[in-house]
Amino acid sequence: MKEILPVNEKGYYGDFGGAYIPEILFKNIADLNDAYNEALADPSFDKQWKDLLKDYVGRPSPLYHAKRLSELYGSKIYLKREDLNHTGAHKINNAIASALLAKRMGKKRLIAETGAGQHGVATATVAALLDMECVVYMGETDIQRQQPNVQRMRMLGSEVRPVTSGNRTLKDATNEAIRDWCCNPKDTFYIIGSTVGPHPYPAMVAYFQSVISSEIKEQLLEKEGREYPDVVIACIGGGSNAAGAFYHFIGNDKVRLIAAEAGGEGKETPRTAASILTGRPGVLHGSRTMLMQTDDGQVIEPYSISAGLDYPGVGPLHAHLAKTGREEVLAINDDEALKAAYQLTSLEGIIPALESSHALAVLDKLKFNNDIVVVNLSGRGDKDMETYINRMK
Ligand SMILES: *Cc1c(COP(=O)(O)O)cnc(C)c1O
Repeated sequence: MKEILPVNEKGYYGDFGGAYIPEILFKNIADLNDAYNEALADPSFDKQWKDLLKDYVGRPSPLYHAKRLSELYGSKIYLKREDLNHTGAHKINNAIASALLAKRMGKKRLIAETGAGQHGVATATVAALLDMECVVYMGETDIQRQQPNVQRMRMLGSEVRPVTSGNRTLKDATNEAIRDWCCNPKDTFYIIGSTVGPHPYPAMVAYFQSVISSEIKEQLLEKEGREYPDVVIACIGGGSNAAGAFYHFIGNDKVRLIAAEAGGEGKETPRTAASILTGRPGVLHGSRTMLMQTDDGQVIEPYSISAGLDYPGVGPLHAHLAKTGREEVLAINDDEALKAAYQLTSLEGIIPALESSHALAVLDKLKFNNDIVVVNLSGRGDKDMETYINRMK
């Protein structure tokens, strides 16, 4: 399965990827690599994971034909309903598999970083389920804008550690999680919430999310008589829901892959999080990727209305797919995402996560000719209600 990704054994996707880590983590990364490869070869791991995806998460998630939205855009639009997963987003697919791997490795303690709080909630959830200790790092700014998720993590028994460095968002929380991991390499497993970090994380997380596109294939075969759509659209923060939705189509040139980055207030302005479109190659959080940085290599603080996309880098897979032209990248600004959220809500009765609204907004920028389009609806909007209500007043 793994060789579907354009990655070599050192973890490079073309010019991007690798494992840029302090020496103290060499053994952890080597152990992780071994445990991951063993788990992949073990049918009992796969069964454990798939059973939980089915009965605990509620998979397969529906592939819903959005008729009113389709009519508006002159195409056949399907929504992949990751918003209906337990805990409200795609993050749980990866969190469950990673926590099972942690258990298998004999680890007792889980740590995670979180932006919007969805990955934190998913990790706190599996920590409760598997009876493990859990600490979630979260920037102060995000703690303020995502209160319901903070409360959920606490009720689930996890400690939420506020991070006050930088602009107090996802990048800063990730720095703190890596610091914790360096201090506790023996008993702690770091569950990274996206296709970022040192190899093998980007490949591993992409594989754990690839269940999304394997279901899309089956569901399209049933609904359309063929296993692939003309277009797949997903938003990218670090790139995990997009990696999952694209995974089984990467090798099929008939399928257009479109990624929506957070434009913020505009990719020409300093208030943006469009890391592929405005960044340059650099190293962040353990891998070489496209990174928003100044001329002398300082990371530029990103900005997006959406906490889950507010990150100055992107997974190396997407840096590579974008550079080679396999994936098209568009920047969607805050106001365009808000408009798309209200549009989906009024046409289909579905309130999407702010992140997913960036993917939906792509529909307005493309020309369709009765194409079959799949939009990955990565999560639900409950956590974003305050922003939706305040910004549309
Ligand atoms: C975390 C999150 C994202 C962004 O992360 P990716 O790794 O790029 O998928 C997108 N949508 C939702 C709902 C999220 O919670």
